[in-house]
Amino acid sequence: MRIAELMGEVPPAARLPVLCYHRVGGPLELGVTRVASSIFARQMTTLARAGWKTLTLDQFAERLRPGHAALRIPDSAFLLTLDDGYASLAEHVYPILADVGFTATTFLITDYVGRLNTWDVRYTWRRLGHLDWDTIGRWQARGFHFASHTASHQRLTWLSDGQAAAELERSRETLRRRLGLEAARAVAYPFGARDERIERLATAAGYELGFGGVHGNGSRLALARIPVYLWDVGSVPFGLREDGFGRLSRTIAHAANQCAVGTSVMLKLLSTPRSLLPS
Ligand SMILES: [Zn+2]
Repeated sequence: MRIAELMGEVPPAARLPVLCYHRVGGPLELGVTRVASSIFARQMTTLARAGWKTLTLDQFAERLRPGHAALRIPDSAFLLTLDDGYASLAEHVYPILADVGFTATTFLITDYVGRLNTWDVRYTWRRLGHLDWDTIGRWQARGFHFASHTASHQRLTWLSDGQAAAELERSRETLRRRLGLEAARAVAYPFGARDERIERLATAAGYELGFGGVHGNGSRLALARIPVYLWDVGSVPFGLREDGFGRLSRTIAHAANQCAVGTSVMLKLLSTPRSLLPS
């Protein structure tokens, strides 16, 4: 066994693509994370026809374990993840995935399950609903997976130890109680924002896996994901392409991820009392 594996690092051969969608279908927005449902449907159908398989979170975690890189998982396998848990997933996404035999892992903002998206400052002109527990339970029974996107979608790296730990722990406890231990093993950090302190707090809260932005650091608590954005309209998402377009798009995705700081700044300003704002 390599020293890196003993240290708990992910063996390079085990790195599997992880795609990340946010909102599919529904009202337009001024942000870049909404993908039209017709494009999503075409991408999933194309991938399924081309022989791609989606992994369950279990299979993915299994593959990361030292010595398990050679498990019988086909090369053309990926983990499909969906962030934020909007209610429209049950309408535009899960049925399409079920049709083509795919599964997905949805990262839920647990304080907002069954509620409107007051945490979000996207320009959607109306408040959007999140999935409720009944709907989540029904899709979990059909082989879909759920995990944590923290309790209230704050940028963890900007919080104190106590606040960040509370975000991670409250969310994990809710998931464990509502959906069982399987839903309590992974977290996707809001805005992909993580550092070593957050990875340590996530481990202390009980998470085995942590998903961040486009770049990982070799740890299971800092796994990389490739977001699918508005401009990714081809039949095969850039994240699964090894050509020049795929590489270029990962660079752009990284930049866009950095830009998401803008959303956090706005949220922070909005929660600051007016008297404290510069006039
Ligand atoms: Zn999010």
